[in-house]
Amino acid sequence: MSLRFYIHTMGCQMNEYDSELISGLLRAEGFEPALSAGEADIVLANTCAVRELAAEKAYSYLGSILKKDKKSEQIVVMCGCVAEQDGAGALKRMNGIDLVIGPSKIRNIGGILKDFLKNGRRKDYTGDAKVEWNKDSAIARSSGEKAWVTISKGCNSFCSYCVVPLARGREESRPQEDIVETAAKLIKSGCREINLIAQNVNTYGKDKKGEGDFAELLTRVASLEGEFRVGFKTAHPRDFSEELIQTVESSKKIMRNFHLPLQSGSDRVLKLMNRGYDTKRYLEVAGKVRRLSGSSLTTDIIVGFPGETEEDFEGTLAMFARAAFDSAYMFKYSPRKGTAASKLGDTVPKGVKEERLARLMALQRKTGLANNKPLVGSEQEVLIDSETFSAGKVCGKTLSEKQVFFPAENSLKGFVRVTITSAGPFSLKGEPVK
Ligand code: SF4
Repeated sequence: MSLRFYIHTMGCQMNEYDSELISGLLRAEGFEPALSAGEADIVLANTCAVRELAAEKAYSYLGSILKKDKKSEQIVVMCGCVAEQDGAGALKRMNGIDLVIGPSKIRNIGGILKDFLKNGRRKDYTGDAKVEWNKDSAIARSSGEKAWVTISKGCNSFCSYCVVPLARGREESRPQEDIVETAAKLIKSGCREINLIAQNVNTYGKDKKGEGDFAELLTRVASLEGEFRVGFKTAHPRDFSEELIQTVESSKKIMRNFHLPLQSGSDRVLKLMNRGYDTKRYLEVAGKVRRLSGSSLTTDIIVGFPGETEEDFEGTLAMFARAAFDSAYMFKYSPRKGTAASKLGDTVPKGVKEERLARLMALQRKTGLANNKPLVGSEQEVLIDSETFSAGKVCGKTLSEKQVFFPAENSLKGFVRVTITSAGPFSLKGEPVK
């Protein structure tokens, strides 16, 4: 009988993509998926190291597996960013972990597991490596309607607080042809939303001569035949180009959400963060996005970066109000091992961070509502999100990634035209157009 595996995914879309890839690669090697960790012969935790809390969650998940579910012969594998960061240290910290596999090595997971089954040697497989993109065709997608498509791995930006360049290595673009082919296949198989993902889509292709840039890639994907739309994440404000705006404007198939992480509204802090832009540049870019009709602007903010003063934070509040973000992911700073910022200490007290976060959240409610209210009475094309059905109500997203709830048969799928009837800070309500 085949061995069964279970994957627990934490963190971002990159990890979701990697988990689907691990699943596909293991199936191709003859392993079978299990419904729960308890039923599995192999448990894999795909971990996130972006914040201290996330990294600790990875260990506590594995700890709980080892306590409750581990059968004596069960193989426990740590993958993802914590695996890359901690390497052999993870094997030392938790005796029950058998294998530690960093993101650059997951494409060899079948071979790694087979080796372990033969020799039983606990080992870490970490370190940067060239990506064998051809292996990505094995991916096992969990949703038929929406798909993440990784267009590059790693990051060269080295923002001072961020572990990604340490955990995922240097940037490496996936061949354009491979991405377009993957998108075409997905559309043919019924996928209606393709999300091109990278740590920084704007630098796509810059590491490979003749590969073409992101605007070219986006144009090619949007030109494919079929009823679908294409989105992208994340766009670094430093590398943002006029051409990208023009590309988005040129096609009704390209989604109009721009996720542009601001991180701080203080030029002093932005410099310490090594973000490569100042507030003036950010507002220029935000202005361009806002001039594009039907667009939305979302962001990430860190509060309590080392040395952040009340004045710095007020700068963030002012920038948030001026950019009038549609929504934001907001986090309390936590130092990450190996980053430049970790040498600055963690100087802002926890209570101050919490209070700043609460003030930002209150502002987010206001800007979110102010952006959503003018949509009342408008007609929007909504793609139903198959995972969010509840009795007689469905949920979907507009082209600008606004969430809309409306009454409909739970079996309804695909694109629906909806009239917006009311607006809240985080979502809209509507009625399907008769
Ligand atoms: S751009 Fe900065 S924050 Fe984003 S992944 Fe790269 S280093 Fe991290």
